[in-house]
This record gives sequence, structure tokens and C-alpha cells, in this order.
Amino acid sequence: NRSRGGGGERSGQNPSIAGKSRQIKLVLLGESGVGKSSIALRYVRGEFNENGEATIGGKYYSAYLTKNINLQSTQIKFDIWDTAGQERYHSLAPMYYRGAAAAIVVYDVCSSSSFMRSQQWVKELIQQANSQIVICLVGNKADMAAEKRAISKEEGQEFAMSNNLIFSETSAKTGMNVDEVFYSVGKSL
Ligand code: GDP
Ligand code: MG
Repeated sequence: NRSRGGGGERSGQNPSIAGKSRQIKLVLLGESGVGKSSIALRYVRGEFNENGEATIGGKYYSAYLTKNINLQSTQIKFDIWDTAGQERYHSLAPMYYRGAAAAIVVYDVCSSSSFMRSQQWVKELIQQANSQIVICLVGNKADMAAEKRAISKEEGQEFAMSNNLIFSETSAKTGMNVDEVFYSVGKSL
């Protein structure tokens, strides 16, 4: 039920999912190291790579993963766009999120700078992306010990609420809330 690089996905084969089918471009945004690739890999393949970078498309180019989910009568095919280091180069962003129906903006709950960066991404999306875009703010690495935390759940929630974002804390490591994030985004599309 998945494919890489956009090829080979066959949909509409199952007559019980006879309803609508939508292809959705979903972009992952956030500071380097927050766990964007890990979230994508956890969601699509159910895997976590403890050591180093979770590579999807290689080190220097973007790639996308696809996954279908069924929400009542609608089947959604997520094309999940992950960067491979380009998040360091801010000028690539508008091209990257053009045409996106959904964005997951990720910070690391142990990093205040990543939380600030996520707020900048949210503001940029609100100003410049498609006005219908569904944005989900995600505080990742929620498995980390409490004393390592820099951002409380309430802080994340508050920013999300005041900007009408979906919000969740996740752990790509344990899998906590990862499926739920994509499901919530799917429901809001
Ligand atoms: P990206 O640069 O945003 O794509 O981040 P990566 O997915 O490459 O993850 C950066 C580092 O954080 C890697 O060493 C991951 O193993 C680690 N990491 C990612 N998600 C989690 C998580 O939920 N919990 C913990 N403890 N580590 C994580
Ligand atoms: Mg990455």
C-alpha cells in the first residue's frame, strides 16, 4: 500500500472504496534535525532509524512517499514531500510548498530554536501558501525525558490554537500519534 517516487501506485482497485479519491500534496517543514524524515518513514513504512539521518530520497534531493488512507467514502493518496537538507536554504521554500493542500510543520520539543522556526514557517504559510491549506503543528520527540524538554505541550497548543492549526505531540521513535496526525489532516481537507 505504498510506493516511492510517485510510480506504481494503483488506486481504485477495491470496489468497496468506490467513492471519491483525492491526491494530496503534503509538505513537511521545520528546522533540520527535528524529525521530519523520521515522521515520514514511521508513517509510511512503520520504521525508525535511531542512528543518524532517516534518508528518504538521498542526501541532496527531495523525494516523496505516498500512502493511501481511507476516510469514510473518500480515499486520500498523500504525496509526502520531505526535504533532504534544503530546509537550510530558505529561498527554496515557496517552490516547495506550491500546490500543497497540507503542511505538517515540525519542531523538536527539546529545542526552543526549532519552535521559533516552526512559528516562522506557519506565518509564511498563512501569508503565502494556498489559503485553503491545512496546517498541522507537530511537537516531535515527545518520548524524551521531561528534563530535556524546552517547550511544554501547552505552549505548542496555545500557538496552534491562536492560528487555527491542528496540533499534536508525536514521537517518530515510539510511533506515538504519528498515524493520528495524518488522519487528522486527512479529515480536515
Ligand atoms: P529531519 O532533519 O527533520 O529530517 O530529522 P531526522 O528525521 O533526520 O531526525 C534527526 C534525528 O532525530 C535523528 O537522529 C533521529 O533518529 C532523531 N529523531 C527523530 N524523531 C525522533 C523522536 O521522535 N524521538 C527521538 N528520541 N529521536 C528522534
Ligand atoms: Mg530529513
